[in-house]
Amino acid sequence: MAISMHKDGFSYDGHRVISCDALSETGLVRHGFSTKQEGTSSGIFTSLNLGIHTSDAPEAVRQNFSLFCRDIGVDPCRAVFAKQVHSTVVLPVTKKDAGKGFLCPGDLPEADGFVTNEPGVCLATFCADCTPILLLDPVCRVIASVHSGWRGTLGKIVCEAVRLMQTRFGSESKDIIAAIGPSIKQCHFEVDEEVYLQFLGCFGEIAEENTVKKGQKYYIDTDSLNVHSLLGMGVLAQNIHVCKMCTYCEESLFFSYRREGMTGRMSGMIELV
Ligand SMILES: [Zn+2]
Repeated sequence: MAISMHKDGFSYDGHRVISCDALSETGLVRHGFSTKQEGTSSGIFTSLNLGIHTSDAPEAVRQNFSLFCRDIGVDPCRAVFAKQVHSTVVLPVTKKDAGKGFLCPGDLPEADGFVTNEPGVCLATFCADCTPILLLDPVCRVIASVHSGWRGTLGKIVCEAVRLMQTRFGSESKDIIAAIGPSIKQCHFEVDEEVYLQFLGCFGEIAEENTVKKGQKYYIDTDSLNVHSLLGMGVLAQNIHVCKMCTYCEESLFFSYRREGMTGRMSGMIELV
């Protein structure tokens, strides 16, 4: 039986959609983070797989998109996808880009984030443990989607998105609302010393404070590092919302690359009304 929940400033509808209450309350965007429930894919992609680059049946993925997009009130033909490459590249997009990915799968820009101030283009990011981050400046009406895997978190890609919102669209940090979605959390984000040392190099003592060492393994709280990056850009603490759900722990709700290996993808999507 589906159970809906309200927790940590996020709501789960008991079906396909987790949303950030602060974003919903503005009335300015349609958005959502998908679960893996109530889709049409089978086998290892059971069932709401949104990964077009997985080996799942393309028709099933398209149907899953239609289901999720209908739930959040978006036309899937307005979605724009990136070829995600674990970079810190954030691109501005316009209505002219709407449909790249869903309609024209071959025509994908290489990037890990998008920014727009145009209604009618839905920014999408794809994850299966990596952190999806959605941003909204309700004053200038600018949105961003960010794919922050561990490399993106290290490279502070979320700062690049905020910077682009500022420089191109005149956003002020104090106005920006940030929703950090479901991802692999500290309980399961285990890395070896080599990766930990990279975090230490980029974040210094903040990385140390947000890491637990067990034997030769390190468990890093990447949410706290993304929050630290946002605070460093001047985003206000009360405007940063972190979904505490772990994609590895919550097996019934999420695909997890670390748990499953080959698996499906969830999406975080946002569009200006
Ligand atoms: Zn976990």
